[in-house]
Amino acid sequence: NDSIPMPVGASPRRRTRQVRVRWDDNEVVIGSDGPVVVQSMTNTDTAEAIATAIQTRALAKAGSELVRITVNTPAAAGEVGAIREQLDRMGCKVPLVGDFHYNGHKLLHDFPECAAALSKYRINPGNVGSSSRRDDNYRAMIEAACQYDKPVRIGVNWGSLDQAVLARLMDANSKRANPWDAQAVMREALVTSAIESAQEAERIGLPGDRIVLSAKVSNVQDVVAVYTELASRCDYPLHVGLTEAGMGSKGIVASSAALSLLLQKGIGDTIRISLTPEPGGDRSKEVIVAQEILQSLGLRSFAPMVVACPGCGRTSSTFFQELADRIQRYLREQMPVWSSQYPGVENMHVAVMGCIVNGPGESKHADIGISLPGADESPVAPVFIDGERTVTLKGDHIAEEFQAIVENYVVK
Ligand code: SF4
Repeated sequence: NDSIPMPVGASPRRRTRQVRVRWDDNEVVIGSDGPVVVQSMTNTDTAEAIATAIQTRALAKAGSELVRITVNTPAAAGEVGAIREQLDRMGCKVPLVGDFHYNGHKLLHDFPECAAALSKYRINPGNVGSSSRRDDNYRAMIEAACQYDKPVRIGVNWGSLDQAVLARLMDANSKRANPWDAQAVMREALVTSAIESAQEAERIGLPGDRIVLSAKVSNVQDVVAVYTELASRCDYPLHVGLTEAGMGSKGIVASSAALSLLLQKGIGDTIRISLTPEPGGDRSKEVIVAQEILQSLGLRSFAPMVVACPGCGRTSSTFFQELADRIQRYLREQMPVWSSQYPGVENMHVAVMGCIVNGPGESKHADIGISLPGADESPVAPVFIDGERTVTLKGDHIAEEFQAIVENYVVK
């Protein structure tokens, strides 16, 4: 049995071709038994090279293994080489993906430095030009990928579906004895557009192991249906995400629901969580959410997990929530150094619990746990290490002392 081991309950990862995305000595493998890759996208104006390089580095530091930048104008394309240089100077080797719409054929032709500095191109076959120019423009972009030895994501999108494919399928549907509903035709058009575009790219000369597919929609059930169908009809690796997921908890919940359903079926080789940031909000949140989805499903580990109870009327204060937040942030901040010094630290579990009801039990299941005192308990906080009760903390410095215990546990 050559299936890839998966957590209990999950289907084996789908076998796919493997696509390698490189910059310098950093190679990210997408597909089959490669880990599910986390990626994200900047929202700066790419023509502003410094701002884009800074945001790219921040996303990479947060854990984005690929970072996509929009390449929408000559001014943007003209700065891609400078962005790459800035990143290299900062020691950031994250591969850059160029996002092209409408004019990618021209930009890749007119800006060879841009074409070379990108590690992968994203092409949307639904908007490569008017129908008379579509084939030529698409061919030009695929030929650029061949010339510069770059992989491509062929990314179709509900909002910019190839109208020729849709019209053809609607026509065929009207002749069916039992026509599909309009939504089903749209889903089929997305899948057909993605697969036919990939086949066309291979005919033009792009090797099949340089193609990743995506077919994004903004509704959970549709995204699950479309990717399930796409997965059954090809062996290209799939970039999975819910497009326009939205703001705040809605975006996180919808993305988590869609991706969990697919990843549990073994579908999905790279993911992006498209969250609309709050004005001035931190772009790297989408990276953290992507990591937490993968870690919650047991597919990858990025940082120690902090388990905390929700709190209730038995708690005497919000101290345990503050402590849980402090420990989670502390552990995340240490990971860039700890992950190389202490292999396996990312699998650690820490429990921060609000009272005796579930505190000791949950703490014993964790590597380290603390059970804080509820309102009607004596003001002491027993600490558990590897399932055994050890010290009991009390007084005004419980947070600092517990953090020191966590650090000692890691470095011992
Ligand atoms: Fe409430 Fe205690 Fe349960 Fe936390 S562990 S939710 S404080 S009963």
